[in-house]
Amino acid sequence: MTRPLLRVAVPVPLPECFDYAWAGDTPPPAPGSRVDVPFGRGRRVGVVLELPESTAVPSGKLKSVSAALDPEPLLPSELLATLRWAADYYHHPIGEVLSHALPGLLRRGRPLAGASARSWRLTAEGRAQSIDAVRAKAARQADALALLAAGALPSEALRCAGIAPATLKRLADKGWIEEAAAAAPPPHSHSSPALPELTPEQRSALDAVRASGRTYAAFLLHGATGSGKTEVFLRLVADQLAAGRQSLLLVPEIGLTPQLVQRLRERFGEGLAILHSGLSDGERREAWRRARAGDAGVVVGTRSAVFAPLARPGLIVVDEEHDTSYKQQQGFRYSARDLAVLRARRLDVPVVLASATPSLESFHNAVTGRYRLLEMPTRIGAAGEPCVRVVDMTRHPSRRGLSAPLLAAIDTHLGAGRQVLLFLNRRGFAPALFCPSCGEAEQCRRCDARLTVHAASGELRCHHCGATKPLTWGCAACGSERIAVGAGTQRVDDELNALYPDQPIGRLDRDATSRKGTLDSVLARARSGATRILVGTQMLAKGHDFPGVTLVGVLNADQGLFGTDFRSGERLAQTIVQVAGRAGRRDTPGEVLIQTHHPTHPLLTRLLAHGYAEFAKLALAERRRAGWPPFSHLALWRAEAARRPPVAEFLGRVRASAAAKPGAVKILGPAPEAMERKGGRYRMQLLFSCTERAPLHALLGRLMAEARDWREGRRVRWSVDVDPLEV
Ligand code: ADP
Ligand code: ZN
Ligand code: ZN
Repeated sequence: MTRPLLRVAVPVPLPECFDYAWAGDTPPPAPGSRVDVPFGRGRRVGVVLELPESTAVPSGKLKSVSAALDPEPLLPSELLATLRWAADYYHHPIGEVLSHALPGLLRRGRPLAGASARSWRLTAEGRAQSIDAVRAKAARQADALALLAAGALPSEALRCAGIAPATLKRLADKGWIEEAAAAAPPPHSHSSPALPELTPEQRSALDAVRASGRTYAAFLLHGATGSGKTEVFLRLVADQLAAGRQSLLLVPEIGLTPQLVQRLRERFGEGLAILHSGLSDGERREAWRRARAGDAGVVVGTRSAVFAPLARPGLIVVDEEHDTSYKQQQGFRYSARDLAVLRARRLDVPVVLASATPSLESFHNAVTGRYRLLEMPTRIGAAGEPCVRVVDMTRHPSRRGLSAPLLAAIDTHLGAGRQVLLFLNRRGFAPALFCPSCGEAEQCRRCDARLTVHAASGELRCHHCGATKPLTWGCAACGSERIAVGAGTQRVDDELNALYPDQPIGRLDRDATSRKGTLDSVLARARSGATRILVGTQMLAKGHDFPGVTLVGVLNADQGLFGTDFRSGERLAQTIVQVAGRAGRRDTPGEVLIQTHHPTHPLLTRLLAHGYAEFAKLALAERRRAGWPPFSHLALWRAEAARRPPVAEFLGRVRASAAAKPGAVKILGPAPEAMERKGGRYRMQLLFSCTERAPLHALLGRLMAEARDWREGRRVRWSVDVDPLEV
């Protein structure tokens, strides 16, 4: 009698699957179940993909497996199919793709149901505490008491609200809280707060999605910042809950959007499961389990949450769909936004992509009818559109990055008791340390990049490889005093402190918020109005709501105007619109000042005169002329090594091998990457482009299979990026 066969994906960097014989006395585990398999000299946790009829492995060499780790498939068949499709499409080993989709504990073979899905509730003594009195001594403990006053919460939910396990332990030690049974209440038992009356724009967007019913349809919800997009998808989520179905909501970064999580929690209570990198292993497994079991009616998460299992799927939403964090940039290089649409189609549920600045790809899909475009141009409650002005920096000299017209505007808005927000896409003190005698700027020894001056910490830092060295002002070559050129957020912060010694100034960038908890407090102070001027990087553009801000300054728009990447114009337009969207409130229209040395740049003038949609049309026409996506499909083949020659040789061979079978795919390169040397390694690339996907993928598949056997391939590190974000 022949034993049943299992085809198993094993988490190793190899594209193939491995066959095993089933030696257990039960029927073989179904696809989607985990099995502990012998592999090489050790053992691995793999996932059964199929039960094949036959195998190419000679029976003498076939290893056997006798126990499954799961009593039933861990991955639903739809999710397993999506993951297999993604492994294929992104040309990434299936075993690694599957393990990326699983929470760490499950990846390591632990059981699905955690023994310790802890929940906490107040004791009688805890209930008797005055929260204000506690707050005076321990703000976090007070926060925890306030949250628990409404009822028991799982520790995962408390963690998401910024309450650390240590805080809970302290409260438990005092006898103010205790563990409660972990059973989550059914999702729709939560009583909702009063909801606002929808605007006509919101109503028609909502009706359009509702009209599509329960089947697949893709919508692009293009609405101004503050037009009420979130409210629209919250209503859709509520519809699903009422019908007993789950919604999957993808967001760019949970830490930067505490308000959204708070709104979700207020409205949906404990029906919420949150998946993000800040959770402990146990918490993440528990959130994943609740999604899979259908206990969570709303599953919110960052990129990898697109792979959350859903028992009763009803809707997928991708908020800020243009955000680059949806594309994983290393290892398994997938786009969660694109996979969300694919998954919605497989699940046959509607998908809503929302943004004030949709990606040109999504915009194109809406224009061509693949997605339905829902537009909400009107901001709710704002006293009209912000007034946008360009400051011509060739005519107005600047003091540490701040021009006279901008300083005048800051005075006016501060004088009126308003808040000011300044955007600068550079952290640190100054982007270069320059010797006036030699004319040289200090470079990183390991990268083709200048070192950034970090005056506060007395360091020069490379923002590309992380190298640091002590800051010395004397030039090593000639001894002259060097000067810090240009301005980063730190320098602007210093300058503002000198100009406005009485005004509290806040800084939002990775340096200022790297310590745990500092991000939350910077955001909270800005939102409460305590901070009068907030200086920050890209982090400012991520959907925060600062109600008191009426002036927004963009300090250096020029960086994006002349970027090397075909998407740099799109990125700049998105940043300007997103940052500008933070200005204005009910009683005062906002004002936006954009400092540029190129005030007549067509991209900028079109955007400012006609808005994002018109800009997008122009930019798409340019993409069509140049043959860039979405009018072509790209893949980037990268290679790197400590020396240049093996890199060029390897990519040269890839190219030659491709040329041996001419087809529709165009290949550019090998060319050095925009920054050739990074972290001491030389990096080059081949760019593949084709108007059709099929020939591109066929060629990539063939070339990758060949290259795996090449000797040249062993002297470099190489990878293939399908639909790359930057080329
Ligand atoms: P967006 O997601 O487009 O930025 P939100 O949904 O967050 O917009 O709405 C912006 C603000 O307006 C929020 O404070 C929200 O509570 C409020 N809001 C949303 N819809 C309405 C409405 N129909 N009536 C009154 N206020 C609303
Ligand atoms: Zn010098
Ligand atoms: Zn470096």
